[in-house]
Amino acid sequence: MAEQTHYRICPLCEACCGLEIRSEGDKVIAIRGAEGDAFSAGYLCPKGVSLKDLHEDPDRLRQPLIKRDGRFVPASWDEALAEVEARLLPILRAHGPDAVAATAGNPSAHKPTSRAWCGRWARAMCSRPRRWTRCPSSSAAA
Ligand code: SF4
Repeated sequence: MAEQTHYRICPLCEACCGLEIRSEGDKVIAIRGAEGDAFSAGYLCPKGVSLKDLHEDPDRLRQPLIKRDGRFVPASWDEALAEVEARLLPILRAHGPDAVAATAGNPSAHKPTSRAWCGRWARAMCSRPRRWTRCPSSSAAA
């Protein structure tokens, strides 16, 4: 199978450093900073360099898990969201919004879809403003 080179951005933080990913089929051969990237110009921090290890980690979560009888079992996204609905709404009804806390962090917190929906989701659960911490090094009130 022919080797290919892909140019992407690192998904781990808002710096969005440019990646040069060499692959062969589904296998990642190497990841390094993309020298032609207008912002990062070839720079990657150690987390970016470790993306291959993260991608191949056998313990990496690849789908939702639901705890059943004390054990986490794989589930579809539809099943996971149905579980959240079934368990979260009774908690909110019985104990009010103070019974629920939301947190978001990298790598998802800086994605456009997360920015668009996380705040709305938190406000839908809570009737008053909440502290919204995105990560230990950068936080903002919502
Ligand atoms: S390489 Fe490091 S600094 Fe750059 S986006 Fe990834 S995690 Fe952030």
